[in-house]
Amino acid sequence: MAAQILDGKSLAAAIRTALKQKVDALVQRGVRPGLAVILAGDDPASRVYVRNKTSACAEVGVRSQQIDYPATVTQEELIRRISQLNADPAVHGILVQLPLPKPIDAARVLETIAPAKDVDGFHEANLGALLAGRPGVVPCTPLACMRLIEHAGVAIAGRHAVVVGRSNIVGKPVAQLLLQRDATVTICHSKSGSLADFTREGDILVAAVGRAKLVTGAMVKPGACVIDVGINRLADGKLAGDVDFESVKQVAGWITPVPGGVGPMTIAMLLENCVNAASR
Ligand code: NAP
Repeated sequence: MAAQILDGKSLAAAIRTALKQKVDALVQRGVRPGLAVILAGDDPASRVYVRNKTSACAEVGVRSQQIDYPATVTQEELIRRISQLNADPAVHGILVQLPLPKPIDAARVLETIAPAKDVDGFHEANLGALLAGRPGVVPCTPLACMRLIEHAGVAIAGRHAVVVGRSNIVGKPVAQLLLQRDATVTICHSKSGSLADFTREGDILVAAVGRAKLVTGAMVKPGACVIDVGINRLADGKLAGDVDFESVKQVAGWITPVPGGVGPMTIAMLLENCVNAASR
């Protein structure tokens, strides 16, 4: 039987509706959540991502400001601006769109964001809190993956979760969240060898690699819940995930589409992190 499609687009819309009510209640108390988005350079994909984020803010009533810099901006200028935003009580969330232009040390810039305003959850203090199981801001894409798995009604405790990819922004934090929920977690990466030997064991399989259609139906356990984080641009201009949707949907129990799966949910989680930051 073909897999059930986990529709991230409609789940994200429902989350935005609920968040709008929370924002309305905050506004009644005199607090309008505010997000500052810093964009440096003119990477076309980054521009699209930022536009999607700021229009989602408008939909739920979060006030967003976009701060544009040319690719020649200095690290010092970015740090100076972030320090100002840290001190601004009308700004509850600060997001630096990655990638930053080449000579800039992105890690150094991200570390300047006050951890409480780090709505992307990339600050080492927040990643450390996640590892330690303490309260902090959780990165948006890993949160999105967890919400989609929960939405599917898939049991996590005691199940084997396989995560392909070990980046600090997706692979490692999503593995940590699955571990917190008592899954047994395997993390695969480019040196893992025969990937299929691992992925075929996953009751839950998260692909966060950046290689179009890497995971095929033959690599998936029948009935597994497959979460596809990848966004890859094909030669014909179309988007594809890290999962070969057509073959995997024949085998999996649940599958997220690309586009329309993790992507819109990531933006919904960004809004949620921002509204939570304004609620504290
Ligand atoms: P990344 O930093 O490039 O990390 C990719 C990971 O995949 C690395 O750990 C790498 O292993 C591993 N890998 C590469 N080739 C592999 C292979 N053949 N077999 C097994 N593992 C392999 O990427 P990322 O930032 O985590 O993003 C991953 C994908 O998700 C990208 O397509 C990105 O565009 C997408 N993404 C989507 C969203 C969203 O909102 N939907 C958000 C963030 C990212 P090594 O560590 O050994 O190099």
